[in-house]
Amino acid sequence: MQTGARIAAGFAIILLSVGLAAGRIKTLVSLLAAARPAPERRRSLVPNLKYEVTKVLGQRKLFQWSGPGLMHAFTFWGFLVVQVTLVETIGELFSPEFKIPIVGDHEWLGFVQDLFFVLVSVALVTFAVIRLGNSPERLGRRSRFFRSHMTGAFVILAMILGVVATVLVVRAARWALGTLPYPRWAFLSRGLGGALDGLSHSTLRWLEDGFLLAHIAVVFAFLVVVMNSKHLHIFTSPLNVLFGRQPLALGRLRPLHIDPELIDEETVLGVGAIEQFSWKQLLDAYTCTECGRCQSVCPAWNTGKDLNPKLLMMGMRDHLFEKGPLLLGRKTAEEMAGLASKSLVPDVVSEDVLWACVTCGACVYECPVDIEHVDAIVDMRRYQVMMESKFPPEAGVMLRNLENSGNPWGAPASARLDWAKGIEDDLIVLNGKMPPDVEYLYWVGCAGAFDDRAKKSVRAFAELLLAADVGFAVLGPQETCTGDPARRVGNEYLYQEIATKNVQMLKSKGVRKIVTACPHCFNALRNEYPDFGGDFEVIHHTQLLEELVRAGRLVPSADLDRRITYHDPCYLARHNGVTDAPREVLDSVPGLSRAEMKRSRGRTFCCGAGGGRMWMEESAGKRINIERVEEVLATDPEIVSVGCPYCMIMMDDAVKDKIAGGEASESVQVMDVAQVLARSVRAASGVAK
Ligand code: SF4
Ligand code: SF4
Repeated sequence: MQTGARIAAGFAIILLSVGLAAGRIKTLVSLLAAARPAPERRRSLVPNLKYEVTKVLGQRKLFQWSGPGLMHAFTFWGFLVVQVTLVETIGELFSPEFKIPIVGDHEWLGFVQDLFFVLVSVALVTFAVIRLGNSPERLGRRSRFFRSHMTGAFVILAMILGVVATVLVVRAARWALGTLPYPRWAFLSRGLGGALDGLSHSTLRWLEDGFLLAHIAVVFAFLVVVMNSKHLHIFTSPLNVLFGRQPLALGRLRPLHIDPELIDEETVLGVGAIEQFSWKQLLDAYTCTECGRCQSVCPAWNTGKDLNPKLLMMGMRDHLFEKGPLLLGRKTAEEMAGLASKSLVPDVVSEDVLWACVTCGACVYECPVDIEHVDAIVDMRRYQVMMESKFPPEAGVMLRNLENSGNPWGAPASARLDWAKGIEDDLIVLNGKMPPDVEYLYWVGCAGAFDDRAKKSVRAFAELLLAADVGFAVLGPQETCTGDPARRVGNEYLYQEIATKNVQMLKSKGVRKIVTACPHCFNALRNEYPDFGGDFEVIHHTQLLEELVRAGRLVPSADLDRRITYHDPCYLARHNGVTDAPREVLDSVPGLSRAEMKRSRGRTFCCGAGGGRMWMEESAGKRINIERVEEVLATDPEIVSVGCPYCMIMMDDAVKDKIAGGEASESVQVMDVAQVLARSVRAASGVAK
């Protein structure tokens, strides 16, 4: 083929594809521009660069699923290598002898390129096998590709294979012609080139030119297809990670800082329409790869509820594209009359979906592209609660109790110290400022104060502090809820009121260090109160116990001789990364034989109480606590240990159900880590009852 014709054909393909892709990019960017601004995302740009390197270039989160992760890493790194061969391909349009300046004839480059062609091909076959093995037709809703775009995925796999195959033929022809810059180390090209060796020079040149143009056609068609499919993540995921809440969108929720004086008819609290999400939240929806990792760990979906975090993201994306022409002024409201009556909740996201979330964060933890599902769900709840006054009736009871009594149980403040009956005289109940020799404020939490089972654990912890001679004080009747349940169900206004008052009260008492036995209080005080001016040093009781045991101030000496399992609370392990301390405390107790569950540490499975679900009926599907306790009981424990009063209540209920059904031994006990330690310490000090 004449050089001019080759260049013209090549550039015609490139220009057409780039034109089509550019049109699509313009639409995608315009939709983001129409969304709510998120100035806080710009501030995180520089620190996030290190996550960009580990999560995108290093594919770190993909490796949480080692097999598919490795295959994805091959494909991703192969994609980078293909960018180098693309430069060579475009150069070859101008000259069949083209090579990249400086490194273009280094044999190692040819070797790396060929190696990745092999690895990418292996990965593509593996992906196809994984998809066929997990097909929704076979597994129904248990398939992680349930309602994912399967055909589109296979088209993409075929196109990537086409990219590799076409460039290999070009390289083989070049090897046979003697123009390949890496004649020795490009082992695959050399092998294939050997098979073409007997062909005439002109045939080889036609092969080279034909497959060169075919390669360009597949690569640039791929660009257009990617821009219009879920494989958009190839381009958006580096941006999503770069602008994400790092290391993960867990723990803290974004405050709204509502000023009642500034509220008017224009004010929107939360998200009630797709364009009210921030541009980052819409970028999340663009970026979903439909891999279903989030779905496979979601406690709601896996116990038969309608909530599926993958389908949530896909639904948001589809609705955005559906409403796009209206948002961008390309169509009028009359032309899109069908959309007028369609609201985000319940038409795009049903109420059952919205309220099923336990905010456990498992979806966020697993998502390879750092999508922030919990933030989106809470934003939609905020709108429902604060703008529409719509929420499950039981959540309404909890919110009323919070407003009227300062705790979700609706119990009187005077009962806040009932857990301490018999040891009140040993406690400092703070009335004025923290005395100088008192190190910690012990924040008991509402569950610990009012639930009979949890009371035993908060008491055990207090007794251990006394035994170890730790200076601590409690607030007694002055303590109120941190506001966490109100925030998780979407009543940000009530949360803001409670948090502001608590911060003022704690500051007025000169509190600096707080220890709490509740991971929900821990999360609020540690991660969320700083947004309201409360900068306290906050630790979980298992962390303090671990310190005290390590320092020899608590000596577990009685041999308990029991089999034990530890259930990680989501708000401790996943949202806050505290996983070693409770295990070290348990492992310090002689005679305990501790079994680990598969879903543990950051990958723990929720007890079902988070996200305000503690106070809501769970009528759909199987109860989440039952699902979890079955996993617990499979380790054959005599003690189920927990580090959270909510988990204590949920696990205890589920164990009792199992005992009643004859599926668990009557001797199985649910105990807080503090109770287990106290039982062993008691033998030496005689303090813990
Ligand atoms: S936070 Fe938990 S319950 Fe909610 S969508 Fe994610 S995995 Fe499911
Ligand atoms: S949200 Fe994340 S984990 Fe879930 S399907 Fe999409 S990319 Fe996969």
